[in-house]
Amino acid sequence: MSEPTAGALDPRLMYGTAVADAIIERASVRSAELARHTGHRPCLAAVLVGEDPASVTYVRMKQKRSAAAGIDSRLVRLPAMTTTGELVTTIRALSDDNSVDGILLQHPVPAVIDERASFDAIAPTKDVDGVTLYSFAAMALGTKGFRSCTPEGILRLLDAHGVELTGRHAVVIGRSPILGLPLGMLLLARNATVTYCHSHTENLPDVVRSGDLVVAAVGRPRFVRGSWLKPGAVIVDAGYNPGNIGDVAFEEALEIASRITPVPGGVGPMTIAVLLDQTVEAAWARRDFSVNGGRT
Ligand code: NAP
Repeated sequence: MSEPTAGALDPRLMYGTAVADAIIERASVRSAELARHTGHRPCLAAVLVGEDPASVTYVRMKQKRSAAAGIDSRLVRLPAMTTTGELVTTIRALSDDNSVDGILLQHPVPAVIDERASFDAIAPTKDVDGVTLYSFAAMALGTKGFRSCTPEGILRLLDAHGVELTGRHAVVIGRSPILGLPLGMLLLARNATVTYCHSHTENLPDVVRSGDLVVAAVGRPRFVRGSWLKPGAVIVDAGYNPGNIGDVAFEEALEIASRITPVPGGVGPMTIAVLLDQTVEAAWARRDFSVNGGRT
């Protein structure tokens, strides 16, 4: 499947492309402003372990978008045989390097590496991908800190489309540490009533049918069916499966939902936009300005 069939002007569709472009445009203005004040452009260091083709492509794309936003990028490539100790040493060196503002460890890393230990070698002030325990606690407690990029991107997408969250029942399908789990925490902080679903959830369609907002973050093509949805529900499809296929049966859901994100062009563009925005904010914050530009 390529583009969903509903027209671009269909008011039910919540596109992310223009929202993401606006975030990147703002980041590039702030990046230029920082360079004018300090002579320093924000710098994002990416660490890539191994040769996984999808990861290589993602990192290349992030570098290209960084350059377009006036952000310098540095790439550290390590062989697939790298040990946890070597990776942690590399990341700690970047954490201590004053010319680096943000650190991205491209994941997943090879299975033999302790991913959690590697993430936690990132200085919290440079954790622009929102993967450290520090950032996780900040998201849980609603204190200042960087957010996981896709969950934060989803919130900004919903805000841009005027979706009310307070008091709504949000059903999040998936609880991964980079997506479902932090997303539920951020929704809770916005006064939604949150239910998490996962692979052990019983009567999943019934639970999903109770959601005013349903977020699919499962990693299974067309997993969520139209018959599972409450009429008028708002649907966010975070899934991205081979062939540009989401986790929601789009055509079925469109018949029932009031709003829905398309795949591609919905959640996808938001992740990188938040990454770049947080990199620029990290660069400002390291020069004594508040993290998230004063946003909480
Ligand atoms: P993941 O780490 O594999 O997590 C999948 C989650 O789905 C797990 O919590 C799992 O439950 C749950 N699950 C699996 N089978 C289920 C079932 N039958 N019923 C209910 N829950 C089930 O995946 P992820 O990294 O969170 O990614 C999820 C999707 O989002 C993927 O399609 C991925 O490509 C996409 N994604 C998109 C972006 C973006 O930028 N747009 C970024 C990241 C991910 P358990 O915890 O019980 O195993």
